[in-house]
Amino acid sequence: MGKAQQVKNVGIPGVKPPERICNDPNCPWHGNIKVRGLILEGIVVSDKMKNTVVVRRDYHYYVKKYRRYEKRHSKIHAHNPPCINAKVGDLVIIGETRPISKTVSFVVLGVIERGKEVKK
Ligand SMILES: [Zn+2]
Repeated sequence: MGKAQQVKNVGIPGVKPPERICNDPNCPWHGNIKVRGLILEGIVVSDKMKNTVVVRRDYHYYVKKYRRYEKRHSKIHAHNPPCINAKVGDLVIIGETRPISKTVSFVVLGVIERGKEVKK
C-alpha cells in the first residue's frame, strides 16, 4: 500500500477534521502549517478573497473609569483552506499560525455552525 494522505490531528479538542481532503500546503489538516498560540471563534463576514476569509469577533472590554463593559469587535484575516471552504455567516474556529501573508496569521480550523446572522 502507498502512503495514505495524511490527516493530522491539530490538537484542538472539539474540532473535527474536515470531510474533504485538500493539497493546500497552508492547510492545518493536510498541509504543513502548525497551529500554536491563540484559538478564537468568530463569524465570517467576507469570503471574497481567494482562500482567505475575514472573521469578526465581538467581545466585551472593561472600561475602568466607568466600571462597565463596552462592546468591541475586531476583524481578523484567516486562511481558509479549500477542504473547509468557510462562507459568510459561518461561525468558525480559527487558530494562530506563523504569518502566511502580510495580513494573515490565522487559519480556519473548522466550521462550528453554518449560516449565522452577519453584523457588518
Ligand atoms: Zn485541507
